[in-house]
Amino acid sequence: MKNSKEELMQELKANGIVDTKVLDSIKLVPRSFFVENSIKSRSNSNIALPIECGQTISQPLIVAFMTQNLLLNKRLRVLEIGTGSGYQTVILSKLSRFVYTIERYLFLKKKAEEKFRKLNITNIFCKHGDGGLGWYDQAPFDRIMITAAAPEIPMLLLDQLKDEGVMIIPIGEENDVQYLTLIKKKGKSFSKKNLMKVRFVPLLEGKINK
Ligand code: SAH
Repeated sequence: MKNSKEELMQELKANGIVDTKVLDSIKLVPRSFFVENSIKSRSNSNIALPIECGQTISQPLIVAFMTQNLLLNKRLRVLEIGTGSGYQTVILSKLSRFVYTIERYLFLKKKAEEKFRKLNITNIFCKHGDGGLGWYDQAPFDRIMITAAAPEIPMLLLDQLKDEGVMIIPIGEENDVQYLTLIKKKGKSFSKKNLMKVRFVPLLEGKINK
Protein backbone atom coordinates (compact mmCIF):
# COMPACT_ATOMS: atom_id res chain seq x y z
CA MET A 1 0.00 0.00 0.00
CA LYS A 2 1.28 3.46 -0.87
CA ASN A 3 0.91 6.10 1.80
CA SER A 4 1.52 9.81 1.79
CA LYS A 5 3.82 11.48 4.30
CA GLU A 6 0.78 13.16 5.83
CA GLU A 7 -0.86 9.75 6.44
CA LEU A 8 2.34 8.51 8.05
CA MET A 9 2.48 11.57 10.34
CA GLN A 10 -1.14 10.95 11.41
CA GLU A 11 -0.33 7.32 12.15
CA LEU A 12 2.66 8.29 14.31
CA LYS A 13 0.54 10.79 16.27
CA ALA A 14 -2.24 8.23 16.74
CA ASN A 15 0.34 5.82 18.17
CA GLY A 16 1.80 7.99 20.89
CA ILE A 17 4.42 10.12 19.17
CA VAL A 18 3.84 13.50 20.80
CA ASP A 19 7.28 15.12 20.75
CA THR A 20 6.94 17.82 18.11
CA LYS A 21 10.69 17.90 17.42
CA VAL A 22 10.67 14.16 16.71
CA LEU A 23 7.61 14.54 14.48
CA ASP A 24 9.23 17.47 12.65
CA SER A 25 12.42 15.51 12.00
CA ILE A 26 10.47 12.55 10.56
CA LYS A 27 8.54 14.97 8.39
CA LEU A 28 11.71 16.68 7.19
CA VAL A 29 13.96 13.67 6.44
CA PRO A 30 12.95 11.77 3.26
CA ARG A 31 13.03 8.05 4.10
CA SER A 32 12.94 7.32 0.36
CA PHE A 33 16.52 8.64 0.11
CA PHE A 34 17.70 5.69 2.24
CA VAL A 35 16.15 2.77 0.35
CA GLU A 36 16.57 1.19 -3.09
CA ASN A 37 14.64 2.57 -6.07
CA SER A 38 12.39 -0.49 -6.31
CA ILE A 39 10.89 0.11 -2.85
CA LYS A 40 10.94 3.91 -2.70
CA SER A 41 7.18 4.01 -3.26
CA ARG A 42 6.70 2.24 0.09
CA SER A 43 8.97 4.55 2.07
CA ASN A 44 6.07 6.47 3.67
CA SER A 45 4.39 3.26 4.84
CA ASN A 46 4.75 2.36 8.48
CA ILE A 47 6.66 -0.85 7.73
CA ALA A 48 10.25 -2.06 8.00
CA LEU A 49 12.02 -2.21 4.63
CA PRO A 50 15.00 -4.27 3.43
CA ILE A 51 18.40 -2.66 2.86
CA GLU A 52 21.63 -4.25 1.58
CA CYS A 53 23.61 -6.94 3.43
CA GLY A 54 20.40 -8.65 4.57
CA GLN A 55 19.60 -5.86 7.04
CA THR A 56 16.44 -3.78 7.54
CA ILE A 57 15.50 -0.16 8.08
CA SER A 58 13.07 -0.09 11.02
CA GLN A 59 9.42 0.88 10.88
CA PRO A 60 9.04 4.71 11.13
CA LEU A 61 6.96 4.29 14.32
CA ILE A 62 9.82 2.41 15.98
CA VAL A 63 12.37 5.01 14.82
CA ALA A 64 10.15 7.79 16.21
CA PHE A 65 9.40 5.90 19.43
CA MET A 66 13.06 5.10 20.15
CA THR A 67 14.08 8.67 19.39
CA GLN A 68 11.31 10.14 21.56
CA ASN A 69 12.39 8.00 24.51
CA LEU A 70 15.97 9.30 24.35
CA LEU A 71 14.81 12.83 25.34
CA LEU A 72 17.34 14.54 23.10
CA ASN A 73 18.47 18.12 22.90
CA LYS A 74 21.10 20.03 20.92
CA ARG A 75 23.69 19.80 23.72
CA LEU A 76 23.85 16.00 23.79
CA ARG A 77 26.33 13.55 22.23
CA VAL A 78 24.79 10.30 21.03
CA LEU A 79 26.32 6.92 20.24
CA GLU A 80 24.36 4.80 17.76
CA ILE A 81 25.16 1.13 17.13
CA GLY A 82 24.00 -0.18 13.73
CA THR A 83 24.18 2.63 11.16
CA GLY A 84 22.44 0.50 8.51
CA SER A 85 20.93 2.82 5.91
CA GLY A 86 21.74 5.90 7.99
CA TYR A 87 18.09 6.96 8.26
CA GLN A 88 17.89 6.73 12.06
CA THR A 89 21.33 8.39 12.28
CA VAL A 90 20.09 11.44 10.37
CA ILE A 91 16.99 11.71 12.59
CA LEU A 92 19.30 11.64 15.64
CA SER A 93 21.61 14.25 14.07
CA LYS A 94 18.73 16.73 13.75
CA LEU A 95 17.98 16.52 17.46
CA SER A 96 21.41 16.28 19.10
CA ARG A 97 24.84 17.91 18.98
CA PHE A 98 26.93 15.03 17.63
CA VAL A 99 26.13 11.48 16.58
CA TYR A 100 28.82 8.77 16.64
CA THR A 101 27.61 5.76 14.68
CA ILE A 102 29.17 2.30 14.28
CA GLU A 103 28.37 -0.26 11.56
CA ARG A 104 29.92 -3.69 11.13
CA TYR A 105 29.42 -3.80 7.33
CA LEU A 106 31.99 -1.59 5.61
CA PHE A 107 29.69 -1.44 2.56
CA LEU A 108 26.81 0.02 4.60
CA LYS A 109 29.11 2.38 6.50
CA LYS A 110 30.52 3.84 3.26
CA LYS A 111 27.11 4.13 1.66
CA ALA A 112 25.63 5.91 4.68
CA GLU A 113 28.61 8.28 4.87
CA GLU A 114 28.07 9.21 1.23
CA LYS A 115 24.43 10.02 2.03
CA PHE A 116 25.37 12.21 5.00
CA ARG A 117 27.75 14.11 2.68
CA LYS A 118 25.06 14.58 0.05
CA LEU A 119 22.68 15.90 2.71
CA ASN A 120 25.40 18.32 3.93
CA ILE A 121 25.25 16.89 7.45
CA THR A 122 28.42 17.60 9.42
CA ASN A 123 27.63 16.41 12.96
CA ILE A 124 27.77 12.64 12.27
CA PHE A 125 30.96 10.58 12.74
CA CYS A 126 31.07 7.05 11.31
CA LYS A 127 33.13 4.05 12.27
CA HIS A 128 33.42 0.56 10.81
CA GLY A 129 33.69 -2.03 13.57
CA ASP A 130 32.01 -4.06 16.27
CA GLY A 131 29.58 -1.69 17.96
CA GLY A 132 29.43 -3.95 21.00
CA LEU A 133 32.82 -2.51 21.94
CA GLY A 134 31.48 1.04 21.75
CA TRP A 135 33.67 4.03 20.85
CA TYR A 136 36.09 4.26 23.73
CA ASP A 137 37.99 7.36 22.50
CA GLN A 138 34.80 9.42 22.32
CA ALA A 139 33.13 8.13 25.51
CA PRO A 140 31.29 8.91 27.70
CA PHE A 141 28.05 9.57 25.81
CA ASP A 142 24.85 11.27 27.00
CA ARG A 143 22.70 8.83 25.05
CA ILE A 144 23.18 5.43 23.41
CA MET A 145 20.83 3.87 20.86
CA ILE A 146 21.31 0.30 19.68
CA THR A 147 19.35 -0.60 16.55
CA ALA A 148 20.02 -4.37 16.65
CA ALA A 149 18.90 -6.85 19.31
CA ALA A 150 21.28 -8.13 22.00
CA PRO A 151 20.61 -11.12 24.28
CA GLU A 152 21.49 -8.97 27.29
CA ILE A 153 22.58 -5.44 28.14
CA PRO A 154 26.08 -4.91 26.65
CA MET A 155 28.09 -3.89 29.72
CA LEU A 156 30.89 -2.31 27.68
CA LEU A 157 28.32 0.10 26.25
CA LEU A 158 26.78 0.81 29.63
CA ASP A 159 30.30 1.72 30.85
CA GLN A 160 30.46 4.33 28.08
CA LEU A 161 27.22 5.99 29.16
CA LYS A 162 27.37 9.11 31.36
CA ASP A 163 25.83 9.20 34.80
CA GLU A 164 22.10 10.02 34.33
CA GLY A 165 22.54 9.00 30.68
CA VAL A 166 19.90 7.02 28.80
CA MET A 167 20.28 3.95 26.59
CA ILE A 168 17.63 2.32 24.43
CA ILE A 169 18.13 -1.23 23.16
CA PRO A 170 16.07 -4.20 21.98
CA ILE A 171 16.85 -7.08 24.34
CA GLY A 172 16.16 -10.68 23.37
CA GLU A 173 17.34 -13.53 21.16
CA GLU A 174 17.00 -13.59 17.38
CA ASN A 175 13.63 -15.08 16.31
CA ASP A 176 12.36 -14.85 19.89
CA VAL A 177 10.50 -12.19 21.87
CA GLN A 178 12.53 -9.01 22.16
CA TYR A 179 11.70 -6.05 24.37
CA LEU A 180 12.65 -2.52 23.59
CA THR A 181 14.36 -1.64 26.85
CA LEU A 182 15.05 1.80 28.31
CA ILE A 183 18.03 1.98 30.63
CA LYS A 184 18.93 4.90 32.83
CA LYS A 185 22.35 5.00 34.45
CA LYS A 186 22.53 6.01 38.09
CA GLY A 187 26.09 6.12 39.40
CA LYS A 188 27.44 2.58 39.25
CA SER A 189 23.90 1.18 39.04
CA PHE A 190 21.07 1.51 36.51
CA SER A 191 17.29 1.23 36.16
CA LYS A 192 15.61 -0.79 33.42
CA LYS A 193 12.15 -0.57 31.87
CA ASN A 194 10.59 -2.72 29.14
CA LEU A 195 8.70 -0.47 26.72
CA MET A 196 7.26 -2.79 24.07
CA LYS A 197 7.71 -6.04 22.16
CA VAL A 198 9.77 -5.60 19.01
CA ARG A 199 11.58 -7.56 16.32
CA PHE A 200 15.09 -6.49 15.30
CA VAL A 201 17.98 -8.04 13.41
CA PRO A 202 20.64 -9.37 15.83
CA LEU A 203 23.60 -7.42 17.17
CA LEU A 204 26.41 -9.69 16.02
CA GLU A 205 29.45 -9.80 18.23
CA GLY A 206 32.96 -9.81 16.86
CA LYS A 207 31.89 -10.13 13.22
CA ILE A 208 33.17 -7.41 10.95
CA ASN A 209 32.19 -7.63 7.28
CA LYS A 210 33.38 -5.85 4.14
N1 SAH B 1 19.26 2.12 12.17
C1 SAH B 1 19.30 1.44 10.91
C2 SAH B 1 18.75 0.05 11.03
C3 SAH B 1 19.84 -0.88 10.90
S1 SAH B 1 19.51 -2.60 11.13
C4 SAH B 1 18.55 2.21 9.85
O1 SAH B 1 17.90 3.20 10.16
O2 SAH B 1 18.64 1.84 8.68
C5 SAH B 1 20.81 -2.94 12.27
C6 SAH B 1 22.21 -2.66 11.79
O3 SAH B 1 23.08 -3.07 12.84
C7 SAH B 1 22.62 -3.44 10.55
O4 SAH B 1 23.10 -2.56 9.58
C8 SAH B 1 23.74 -4.36 11.07
O5 SAH B 1 24.74 -4.61 10.11
C9 SAH B 1 24.26 -3.57 12.25
N2 SAH B 1 24.96 -4.39 13.26
C10 SAH B 1 24.65 -5.60 13.75
N3 SAH B 1 25.55 -5.99 14.67
C11 SAH B 1 26.46 -4.99 14.77
C12 SAH B 1 27.63 -4.80 15.54
N4 SAH B 1 28.05 -5.70 16.43
N5 SAH B 1 28.32 -3.65 15.40
C13 SAH B 1 27.91 -2.69 14.51
N6 SAH B 1 26.81 -2.82 13.75
C14 SAH B 1 26.09 -3.95 13.87
